[in-house]
Amino acid sequence: MVIMGEDSQRVKDKDAQEFNMSAARAVSDAVRSTLGPKGMDKMLVNSMGDVTITNDGVTILQEMDIDNPTAEMIIEVAETQEDEVGDGTTTAVSIAGELLDNAEDLLDQDIHATAVMKGFQLASEFARDEIDDVAEEIDPTDADLLQNVAETSMTGKGAELEKEVLADLVVRAIQQVTVEANDGSHVVDLANLNIETQTGRAAAESELLSGAVIDKDPVQDEMPTTLDDADVLLLDEPIEVEEADADASVSIDSPDQLQNFLDREEQELREKVDQIKATGADAVFCQKGIDDLAQHYLAKEGILAVRRVKKSDLRFLKNVLDTTIATDVDDLSEADTAKGDISRDEEDELFYVEGPEAHGATILIRGSTDHVVDELERGINDALDVVATTVSDGRVLAGGGAIEVELASRLRNYADSVSGREQLAVEAYADALELVPRVLSENAGLDAIDLLVDLRSAHEAGDTRAGLNVFTGEIEDTFEQGVVETAHAKEQALASATEAANLVLKIDDIISAGDLSTEGEEPEGGAGGGMGGMGGMGGMGGAM
Ligand code: ADP
Ligand code: MG
Repeated sequence: MVIMGEDSQRVKDKDAQEFNMSAARAVSDAVRSTLGPKGMDKMLVNSMGDVTITNDGVTILQEMDIDNPTAEMIIEVAETQEDEVGDGTTTAVSIAGELLDNAEDLLDQDIHATAVMKGFQLASEFARDEIDDVAEEIDPTDADLLQNVAETSMTGKGAELEKEVLADLVVRAIQQVTVEANDGSHVVDLANLNIETQTGRAAAESELLSGAVIDKDPVQDEMPTTLDDADVLLLDEPIEVEEADADASVSIDSPDQLQNFLDREEQELREKVDQIKATGADAVFCQKGIDDLAQHYLAKEGILAVRRVKKSDLRFLKNVLDTTIATDVDDLSEADTAKGDISRDEEDELFYVEGPEAHGATILIRGSTDHVVDELERGINDALDVVATTVSDGRVLAGGGAIEVELASRLRNYADSVSGREQLAVEAYADALELVPRVLSENAGLDAIDLLVDLRSAHEAGDTRAGLNVFTGEIEDTFEQGVVETAHAKEQALASATEAANLVLKIDDIISAGDLSTEGEEPEGGAGGGMGGMGGMGGMGGAM
């Protein structure tokens, strides 16, 4: 009996597993070469021809035009990791891919997928407990250590070249928005931090400024641009003539009528400006447009007006000034304004706005071109998340594969206590973790096999911090060398990698309304041809 449509397809059992494994492998292969400080970048061209050059796992996967359901499940791992901790996306995806690779060997030995999943789950729980055991508690106010954490998260990224300056910015920024709670814990409020970007100058000239930075000009040159202790109004409504009904048309038969009409418009704008003036406002930051005539009136009143302020900037201004955003020009009062100091950087055409309480800070990222600034912003965003996590969580680990080798060694001991076939899966899990030092050394052009042997024996000898320093090619105490990662990021990476692997392993039947085995649709314009075409088995091998 036929129950499925003509175009639909069904793949079952081993074929389904193979289909899924190779999709997952293709995804992790796509990002592996970017892992670590010596990882390479990828240039991504989308169907519009826009270019992104990045080393950031989640960005690569999001920009790739992937059209395969299994691959998308793996990409979700990266997205979860990015949302939860902001770093470790490449690690998470690579481990997920390696888990599935190793699982395939077990399935080939006729070990049932359920046993593999069970073993992976046991191993993941055990490993996360061990991370907590290995992790070191730090003083969340230790700026030097936080600097190391920030630099580690920036290595390999565009931010790397200036990582000392930028990591210092990140640490100071986080410290500015950290408050110590009554119970002694440290709380970081990232909402009090904003990022502004500007092209044209060197990355090393990036700055941390208190308050908000608004990258806009005054609407009229005659307006004042430096105002101390000003009354500031934030507005998200246009200062324009309110449009009558969209369909209503005005019919004008005589010059008088036309004059009348224009007078009415003028009158309305005049009233709006008077309303603003009545609040005592010295400056207006408006998210929407401001009519030319209204601009003229505002300038005559000596009021600074800025239009089309980004929504996110206006929200941040609201935090900095500790005020509200007014939504109706016809219903304003003094209470809608707040005190602030405004100054102008003429050269860069920026406004600096500070509130009296001095909460809120802005990182002004500078770079020579848009591509540079974009990649810097990604790197700085990740570092901010990572340092924030370190401050609030307080647990860190030695990087450069040190933690992975230590966990693998502990997992192999643990495997002896696991009965049945799950034992093999726990061992396979341990092997998968060692992918990290292996890929780190491969990407650095070092001998992965020799180094792994040395790393294992260092850990057997009790050296929990022994990792690979890719710059010297030596096995060292990476913690001491400043390669420091957060425990939370590693726990999250293992949790989401395991979850994704198990999700894929559980599938033994794929029923698709469309054709599974053909190439994915080529992106329009063909500019992204190399990135697309992961739509099926055929496309996956050659996708990268
Ligand atoms: P992810 O997206 O997973 O964060 P990265 O490309 O940022 O990927 O690489 C992170 C890995 O690089 C971590 O395992 C980290 O310990 C390692 N790493 C960072 N700096 C060094 C270094 N100097 N030597 C060796 N490994 C390093
Ligand atoms: Mg990283």
